[in-house]
Amino acid sequence: IFEGYRVQYNDARGPYKGGIRYHQDTDINEVKALAFWMALKCAVANIPMGGGKGGITVDPKKLSKGELERLSRGWIKLMAPVIGPQVDVPAPDVNTTPEIMSWMVDEYGKITGDKTNAVITGKPIEVGGSEGRGPATGLGGFYVFDLLRKKMAMPDSCRVVIQGFGNVGGNAADILSKHGHTIIALSDSKGAILKEDGIDIKLLNDYKKEFGQISGFPGSKMITNEELLLLECDVLVPAALENQITAENAPLVKARLVLELANGPTTPEADDILHSMGIPVVPDILANAGGVTVSTFEWEQNLKGEHWSEEEVNAKLKKIMEEETNLIYDRSVALNTDIRRAAFIVALERIEQATK
Ligand code: NAD
Repeated sequence: IFEGYRVQYNDARGPYKGGIRYHQDTDINEVKALAFWMALKCAVANIPMGGGKGGITVDPKKLSKGELERLSRGWIKLMAPVIGPQVDVPAPDVNTTPEIMSWMVDEYGKITGDKTNAVITGKPIEVGGSEGRGPATGLGGFYVFDLLRKKMAMPDSCRVVIQGFGNVGGNAADILSKHGHTIIALSDSKGAILKEDGIDIKLLNDYKKEFGQISGFPGSKMITNEELLLLECDVLVPAALENQITAENAPLVKARLVLELANGPTTPEADDILHSMGIPVVPDILANAGGVTVSTFEWEQNLKGEHWSEEEVNAKLKKIMEEETNLIYDRSVALNTDIRRAAFIVALERIEQATK
């Protein structure tokens, strides 16, 4: 018997939206905090969704595939009465995959007869997934960065350091380098590499496929993850885990801008330190909102019975990310505050107005 949760934090702006996390440390408080965060993120992106989150306290690596499928279908059997395309729309999170989403949507359809598949996003394309969902978070982050780079008069070609080379960090590295920026350092859980004249991301992807790590990439120097965060660069992109920039290392950060693609990579104390050092931090709820935005496109396509091309998805994503970045940045200037506080203010105002 496993403990599972769904927290429905706020639905003033639309159905609850948020992923389902499978992790041995997941508990009700973590899920509650993440649901609150989703309410703010959806409001920042101005998509018609509220904030929710789900989870199961389990180490999925200890389950067989059959056990994992039965557990996932079991979660849906119990949650079916309280979720639905117009009520609450779950999605993947840590350790949950498109395949798990396909089991879940199948189970929901069996129980309710729903054929839209709109109750769950992050599905494989074959069962109603959206084009462009894979790179959406990295691409959305790029649109945000590109606009702010121009507003802040940063160079056309920036020197970029990225922590994490998974879905988000890997896609961000690829997109940034294709737009003329130089990725000088990257890390994964096994180590970090530095190459002052720039890392070829395609070659690094091939290397990672072959050797299962980025350490030892030809022409690069090995450094520690801690050293990576303190490199002199234009843009530092935490794209791995929470609580990476802390009160201890923040005073030593030598980036001109921090772009938070991970959730919660900067502690509140570190955030204040960076602000006092004049280093702008583009907050997670804006920088990584591209993922939930394309998830919402998936829901919309399912409800309308449509399938949009990747070009169409990316054009809609670009429009939203640029509009909200402009609005939040201008607000931060007008209120003489940092971008995170401006994002919180905009999100809370939208939730408040919808509630009223
Ligand atoms: P992922 O599992 O695909 O990648 C995580 C990467 O971080 C891997 O390369 C891993 O090796 C690396 N990593 C782990 N521990 C590390 C360490 N100690 N030092 C350096 N690197 C380390 O996960 P992801 O989907 O890319 O998510 C990354 C972050 O982005 C998370 O905070 C996640 O919540 C957030 N996020 C993801 C999405 C999305 O669409 N995937 C959307 C919004 C936010």
